[in-house]
Order: sequence, then C-alpha cells, then structure tokens
Amino acid sequence: MSRVFNFSAGPAILPEEVLQQAREEMLDWRGSGMSVMEMSHRGKEFMSIAEQAESDLRALLQIPDNYKVMFLQGGASSQFAMVPMNLTRENTKVDYINTGSWSKKAIAEAKRFATVNLVASTEETRFTTTPGQSELNLDPGAAYVHYTPNETIQGVEFPYVPETADVPLVADFSSTILSRPLDVSKYGIIYAGAQKNIGPAGLTIAIVREDLIGNAVENTPAMFQYATHSENASMYNTPPTYGWYLAGLVFKWLQQKGGLAGMAMINRRKAEALYKAIDDSGFYANPVSPDSRSWMNVPFTLNDAGLDGKFIEEAGAAGLKTLKGHRSVGGMRASIYNAMPEEGVQVLIDFMAEFERVNG
Ligand SMILES: *Cc1c(COP(=O)(O)O)cnc(C)c1O
Repeated sequence: MSRVFNFSAGPAILPEEVLQQAREEMLDWRGSGMSVMEMSHRGKEFMSIAEQAESDLRALLQIPDNYKVMFLQGGASSQFAMVPMNLTRENTKVDYINTGSWSKKAIAEAKRFATVNLVASTEETRFTTTPGQSELNLDPGAAYVHYTPNETIQGVEFPYVPETADVPLVADFSSTILSRPLDVSKYGIIYAGAQKNIGPAGLTIAIVREDLIGNAVENTPAMFQYATHSENASMYNTPPTYGWYLAGLVFKWLQQKGGLAGMAMINRRKAEALYKAIDDSGFYANPVSPDSRSWMNVPFTLNDAGLDGKFIEEAGAAGLKTLKGHRSVGGMRASIYNAMPEEGVQVLIDFMAEFERVNG
C-alpha cells in the first residue's frame, strides 16, 4: 500500500490512524458482529457511538450547554437555506459579509427568503482581503449577521471574530472548524460540511444556540427546521450513521493531538512554513494580504502559468496530489487541513524549491 499526500480541498485527507481503525472495525464493530454501516441508528451500539461523538465534540470546542449540536445531511449548501428559513419572516432584514465564492452562494440563497444587506464586500480586491470591524456596515435591526470565516477557494481567513452586539452571528465554518480553539459563545449558529476538516462527505454539523431554535415559518418542511432535529437528537430520520461514527474517530484523534490548542500549534507551523517558502521565492506568489491568509487553504501561482501543467504532473509523480487550483482562481491550491501531516507540507516545500531550481 502506498498513500499519497492529498492536498484536495474536499473531500479531503483523513488521518491515517482513523482510517486504520475504521478498517479494523469494519466487519465487526467491537464485538457487535456488525459493521457500523449495518446498525440500526436507534440500537444501543449506534446510540453509544453517536453520544460519544457529540460529547467529544462538545469537549473539544467547549460548547456551552445552551447550544444544540446537530448531525445533519445536505451539506453546508443546505445550511445556506436552512439558516434564513429558521431565522426570518417575510421582509426580515439580514446582514451578510461577502468575502468570496462561498459567501456569494450563501447570499444568493438568503435572497430567496429575506432582504439581504451587504455589510461589506471585498470583491474589488478580488477577494484577497477581509474587511475590518470598522468597515462592517451593520444593521442593528437585522435578524442575524452571516459570514464565512475561511473562504476555501480564495484562501482568505478572518483574523478576528466580527462583533455584532445583540445580533446573532452565523458562520459557515466548513473549511476551518477544529483547526484551532473557537469561542462558540460568540456565535448564534456555526455550521460545517464534514468533508474538509471533520470526516467524510455526507455529514453536516450545526451548532445552534437554543433561542434560535423553533422559530421557523409555519410551512417550513420538517427536515429543514432546526427544531425537528433538536427535539429528536438528530434522529428524526436516518442520520448519516457511518459519517457520524468516523467523525467520532476524528474527534478522538484530535484529543490525542492535544485538542484544538495542540492542533493550532501544528497548523500554524504548517501554514507559516508554506507561506514563507512562497514569499521567499520570486517564482511562486500568493495574492492574499498577509493578515488574512488561510491556515487551511493556500492558493499560489507560478510566475509562468505555462508551467502549471508541468508542475501538477511532476508533483503528482512525486506523490503530491490534487494541487490544481480552483478553476475560478487558477494556479495551485494546497489544502493543509488537520489531517495533513507536517511531513506532507515539508515534502511539498522541498518539491517546490527543486521545481523552481530546474524551471525558474
Ligand atoms: C465546501 C464548502 C461549502 C459547500 O459544502 P457542501 O457540503 O458541498 O454543501 C460551503 N462553504 C464552504 C466554506 C466550503 O468550504
């Protein structure tokens, strides 16, 4: 068996230890005689898996008691709709910050349900910055403020948590959740698709403050109401059981890494090393302003775009996979989520230096 270093933005690399454990438990989960995939979601075995995963996530993120954790499906893209469906009425005003491709999708979806006030947009900088707190044109009467802490495609990350006074802050944490400690109490809703930094695709986690549950407009389908999932402990219908189980294994792995404080140190080192290699070279460039650079997604260009294909091909041959940049940005993108070992980043940096030596 040979594993590559997979820099995919998502679905993304998972910790090898987690995959090994899942393999060991695949046919017979701890003496149950069944795979987790074959278990009833209401049986005692799966209930214990589900409860353990939630309690480990609560411990990792220090989630306060007045927040519900939901294990859902439909991806972050469903949350783009579920948030306004649960927090607005006709003519409700909502505030959105636009910092990149995922913000834009969230905004487009919110417009179906509410009047969207764009409180700041960094589109004129081609999404290479984040707006400062003083640049946020917040409406104190808004139902909530939505933002994207980490824009996966542009590689732009907020260096601070927006201050929104009494207006609930809603955040799409898909590509940066669990990368470092997070003060959940500053948020009304946090949501994330699992396939970047939590587990396999198909699971979506929402962390919702209790007072924001139960206010959906009357004809909202049951599956799109937070109340439905909250009242049924995410078992109103069949939840994504295997993804939930794997996420639980990832939470245990994170605990062994020193929790989120430990993970933050590792992630900072990986990001700093890669950005330094880019900045120190005249051959590679990253357009994002240094204070807003993502720890998780690092886009970079070659000074001769004609060499992009050669770079991808030779990197692939060296076991460095899925480095092609998003089609809207071009160049390369290295996603260096929690599960990417420091060694993988170092191998990439060494490869980049050698490629520059030969082709620069
Ligand atoms: C990947 C991603 C999404 C889309 O997630 P799905 O689970 O595919 O719906 C939304 N927001 C961000 C920030 C992402 O990285």
